[in-house]
Amino acid sequence: MNQKKLLYAGKAKSVYRTDVKDQLIVEFRDDITAFDGGKKDVLKNKGSYNAEVSAFFFDYLNRNGVKTHFVRMLDPNHMVVCRLDMIPLEVIVRNIAAGSIVRNYPFKEGSKLDPPVIVIDFKDDSRHDPMLNDDLIVALKLTTPAELKKIKKIALEINRLLFRILAKQGIVLIDFKIEFGRQGKAICLGDEISMDSMRLWDKKSGESLDKDVYRFNKGDVMATYNSVTQRITHTAKKAGKTRN
Ligand code: 5GP
Repeated sequence: MNQKKLLYAGKAKSVYRTDVKDQLIVEFRDDITAFDGGKKDVLKNKGSYNAEVSAFFFDYLNRNGVKTHFVRMLDPNHMVVCRLDMIPLEVIVRNIAAGSIVRNYPFKEGSKLDPPVIVIDFKDDSRHDPMLNDDLIVALKLTTPAELKKIKKIALEINRLLFRILAKQGIVLIDFKIEFGRQGKAICLGDEISMDSMRLWDKKSGESLDKDVYRFNKGDVMATYNSVTQRITHTAKKAGKTRN
């Protein structure tokens, strides 16, 4: 497979065309940003940790009946994916109150959200990703009502599966953000699932194991990304499962 023209460059990933029909290459770069791009750095190997964890979760989800765009890894920073018609929604699933939900609403940090809360933001940097509701999503023609229902159902299933596998490693899945696209009529998970897009707390110590370490200068970001990557992917290695 040959990498062709750059299609899109985001804050931490770049997407390239390839010479294979309907397949793209996602490059996980070492850039890290927070606060709407207000804080920026380049951290060596960060891209490969996020790529490894994303590939691990995509493979796990695919094997558990959730359709994702993941095809295979080319090298530690480059992932081959199916081309999707991306839907500009940030679907956030929350199990424990933290982050913006605590800043914006009277939830106590660390309190359990049962059932999990789904929040959907409009992926639009120029508008600072405002929160949407079902009527706005349909009025903006971002999805049909049936697609939205399906997206929420898949998001909750992904939450169930990720929560379970992370718990085995003593990690609590506080919340995460995912993005979907269309492949024909099917809804398919795209983008990434990594330390940049999840909030993870160590079950015993309660310490952050994700981008909050970078956002709030809580410690050595790369040491955290390295050790959490080992912990997450260890589940698979122990079970003798491989991914390609
Ligand atoms: P919050 O709304 O509390 O800032 O974020 C909730 C969850 O979604 C966190 O796990 C956070 O990392 C993720 N998230 C929210 N917005 C974005 C975004 O624009 N990009 C990424 N990568 N993750 C996001």
